[in-house]
Amino acid sequence: MSPTLAPSPYRFSLAVYCGSRPGAHPAYQALAQTVGQWIGQHGGQLVYGGGNNGLMGVVANATHAAGGRVVGIIPHALVGKEVAKEDCDELLVVDNMHQRKAMMAERADAFLVIPGGIGTLEEMFEVWTWRQLGYHNKPIGLLNTHGFFDGLLAFMDHTVKQGFLSPAQLELVEFSQDPLALLAKLTHFIAHNKISQIAVNEI
Ligand code: AMP
Repeated sequence: MSPTLAPSPYRFSLAVYCGSRPGAHPAYQALAQTVGQWIGQHGGQLVYGGGNNGLMGVVANATHAAGGRVVGIIPHALVGKEVAKEDCDELLVVDNMHQRKAMMAERADAFLVIPGGIGTLEEMFEVWTWRQLGYHNKPIGLLNTHGFFDGLLAFMDHTVKQGFLSPAQLELVEFSQDPLALLAKLTHFIAHNKISQIAVNEI
């Protein structure tokens, strides 16, 4: 567990994993906008990679514009490349990618995955495997918009059918096409369940 912190001024803390690019269809940016707006309107805190590019920038700017708190966590080597968002409420510049991911996982009560590239997928699989291993019990949601994750979902079903993943492990991620319903479900889980975690540096 992290050291005890002062009572938080926000109602929940949600890590959003998403593309550092905007994607080819406007539906992706629209989704990022909806997610950020929802976090802000519901008194939440966004934890994300700290960049201003792509969907990452869209979700952070939308959270801020709707009155939410924004925590960006970025390795110093990426400050220029990913255009660090200097007006985050907290911009944490860390030494490397491992610190970024560990800190994001610690600072979040739940994780949300929206469309992105291999960075997004890597982050999703990491928190999923950590949950499968019992390192934390924070909910994970995935928003499938414009059919973006159809291929991944089919592959995960295949993985279950081929005996490499149990149905229960598959269910550790909540898949949805409905942003408002999924966000409500994740925050309801946060409010009504004791979230457990061990220090990420024990992993
Ligand atoms: P992408 O989905 O590839 O556009 O990347 C989204 C975010 O994931 C960016 O902030 C990347 O810096 C980050 N990222 C890229 N590679 C990794 C990695 N190996 N581990 C964690 N995050 C990564």
